[in-house]
Amino acid sequence: MNDPVHHSMDIGDGTRAVRAGLPEPVKHEPTLPGPVFAAHFHLPGDPTGPYTYGRDENPTWTRLEQAISELEAPGRPVETVAFASGMAAISAVAFSQLRAGDAVVLPDDGYQALPLLRERLEAYGVEVRTAPTGGDAQLRVLAGARLLWIESPSNPGLDVCDIRRLVREAHAGGTLVAVDNTLATPLGQRPLELGADFSVASDTKGMTGHGDLLLGHVTSGDPELAAGVRRWRKVVGAIPGPMEAWLAHRSLATLHLRVERQCANALVLARALAERDDVSAVRHPGLPEDPSHAVAAGQMRRFGSVVSFVLPDRDKAERFLGELRFVEEATSFGGVRSTAERRGRWGGDAVPEGFIRFSVGAEDPEDLLTDVLHALDTVR
Ligand code: PLP
Repeated sequence: MNDPVHHSMDIGDGTRAVRAGLPEPVKHEPTLPGPVFAAHFHLPGDPTGPYTYGRDENPTWTRLEQAISELEAPGRPVETVAFASGMAAISAVAFSQLRAGDAVVLPDDGYQALPLLRERLEAYGVEVRTAPTGGDAQLRVLAGARLLWIESPSNPGLDVCDIRRLVREAHAGGTLVAVDNTLATPLGQRPLELGADFSVASDTKGMTGHGDLLLGHVTSGDPELAAGVRRWRKVVGAIPGPMEAWLAHRSLATLHLRVERQCANALVLARALAERDDVSAVRHPGLPEDPSHAVAAGQMRRFGSVVSFVLPDRDKAERFLGELRFVEEATSFGGVRSTAERRGRWGGDAVPEGFIRFSVGAEDPEDLLTDVLHALDTVR
């Protein structure tokens, strides 16, 4: 499990991604063994692990968790716990760490299900404070909190906060820090190296990248914190299916290729959009003129595949989406096929009616650009 080659810092992201979590080669066995479908395992005598009952552990999860650990924190002993979805992973950190009387700081511009989490936490007697991601504004409401929840870059506004700074101040006051790293993926940002206690993600998105499964994970360098999260998974039973876990592991082999291509495409698109007078408020942390760029450049290794921008009104935004040939109108992001949506249709985000969240895929950049510019020209 702790094979030094797997954990080595001296290999590149591509090599690490294609080899992540592979077991030692065994003659006549496949490189990545297939999914293990088991509700229970043969268990004569004393019930000792690792594999006893299917809600507690599964060898397919173990390999995926090892792979994610290698990507999240190369060369460091960290633990990953895989979950059935990103929300299961987020809830696991929140509910395993917070008790009645504690305070938690959430972003007020984060993923749109966070208000649902807030409602639950408050019902259990947890004080919930919120502040925007940009300008490190969460610092202003941090005093005495048990947990600080960061989402950087934020979804869908793509604001960024200085994670090292927030961690420093949080830890000085005894506050734990969790970072939702969904948008960046571990190839874009490594929250544990920036000092966070938990790196959390919806692996439904760029991490697996094909839009065909839901999954999430929590990684921590602190064995006690990780054990609390693992116990929560056993209690709630928010476990990944073996098939999903295996598909996710298989998808990690192309993570580097996908992320490189999608991030490069995102920058090409953002640059082209920024030059147009019928598009406003183009946001992408990789754009040098973006308000987030300076902070992002200090902590991100790649800037992500999401671009956001605003069209003049709802009608123009809807017509723009309808004109696109290679871009599917769908929610979610991070997939190899470009998707886009008018985010205001959900009603949960504080965005203008013409706000578009565009998830850039792995298409040829020329095709994507031609498609997008043609759609914009048509609705102008
Ligand atoms: N975190 C972020 C930033 C997200 O965008 C999402 C989903 O869109 C989630 C968490 C929740 O993930 P899941 O849909 O896998 O539960």
